[in-house]
Amino acid sequence: MSKVLGIIGGGQLGMMIAEAAKSIPEHVSKIIVLDPTENCPAAQVGAEQIVADFKDEAAIVKLAEKSDIITYEIESGDSDVLKSVESKAEIEPSPETLKIIQDKFLQKTFLNNNNIPVPEFVEISSIENLEKKLEHFGYPALLKARRDAYDGRGNFKIDNPDQIKEAFDYFKGQKLMLEKFVPFKMEVSVIAARNTKGQIKTFPLVENIHEENILRETIAPARVSEEVAKKAEDIANNTMTVLKGAGVFGIEMFVTQDDQIVINEIAPRVHNSGHHTLQSSETSQFEQHLRAILGLELGNTKLVYPTIMYNVLGSKSFEGKYKPITMSEPNVFLKMYGKEISKPLRKLGHFNVVGKNNESIEQLLKKLEPLKEKVVTQPSN
Ligand code: ATP
Ligand code: MG
Repeated sequence: MSKVLGIIGGGQLGMMIAEAAKSIPEHVSKIIVLDPTENCPAAQVGAEQIVADFKDEAAIVKLAEKSDIITYEIESGDSDVLKSVESKAEIEPSPETLKIIQDKFLQKTFLNNNNIPVPEFVEISSIENLEKKLEHFGYPALLKARRDAYDGRGNFKIDNPDQIKEAFDYFKGQKLMLEKFVPFKMEVSVIAARNTKGQIKTFPLVENIHEENILRETIAPARVSEEVAKKAEDIANNTMTVLKGAGVFGIEMFVTQDDQIVINEIAPRVHNSGHHTLQSSETSQFEQHLRAILGLELGNTKLVYPTIMYNVLGSKSFEGKYKPITMSEPNVFLKMYGKEISKPLRKLGHFNVVGKNNESIEQLLKKLEPLKEKVVTQPSN
């Protein structure tokens, strides 16, 4: 039976899920997204849209009444509201899983209790408490907001005692945690999936390069030894085993100087570092997510072609309408998200440089270099 799928959030992730659904019409008959921006990216590719805030309870109830299954592309949804509509629609990943993941302290406590490696961390309740914990932790350390952080805005690095007050004040009234700073060698991630029947599959380990806390580039596969890749993929598998929800999860990790793996954080959704799968793999992360929440057999996750994904980010120097971005290079696949307005470092699109001719990562990196200039946004007037 073909199902109606509701998605909380209709940005680029919802858009690419909606596009993936078109290839399995026997399983998904319709997509409805809830998003506050009129004509959001997902609506532009045929999804029906409820225009409302992500936290609008009445709108979520309406979405649940119209849908067989609800999923989400953002992790800031209210898990209690989602829990309350479970009688109207199946919610995947489950509200219980979302509740653990959306609070970084609960998430790390959960992982730690299940023997999954994370940086040393502790809850912070007051500035006095922070001062005391830092004596034990040493410097540098990261003060983090427990909830609703994105693009690194929820982090404050404390290098010495003089910064304690500034750091604490920065977060005004938010729930906080403190974490040991990990002088990592590389940031990596695994896109993992678990279907409603408990089947688990992981995509190969990829390497992530950030600029100003925003993902800029993903290299698939990561340039690490087989041993390190296996260790990370095993940790991702173990994580999925204990974390019960169904769907695709982006598991961000650090490779330490002595080649240990620790988890930085988990996103309970398709992830920017999995966009390469659109061309590099037999199954994209978006199709995998649909398969997972629909209880279908998960698709093959083998990396068919080495690939580099590069994000098209809004230029830092202006905000407004921008000139169309195009690319006509063999084996380079540009995907723009249909956002009308460019803002500094806003994610507007991405492109994949795909190694269809057996190129090495070094060759692909060389091919990428001149292409970076072609995606610098310019004002259109
Ligand atoms: P995002 O939206 O990018 O996920 P966020 O606000 O949720 O951002 P985190 O994922 O916690 O923030 O961290 C953002 C970046 O900060 C990481 O990619 C990493 O570069 C750095 N970082 C986070 N935690 C640590 C740590 N314990 N040690 C060193 N660097 C860290
Ligand atoms: Mg993060």
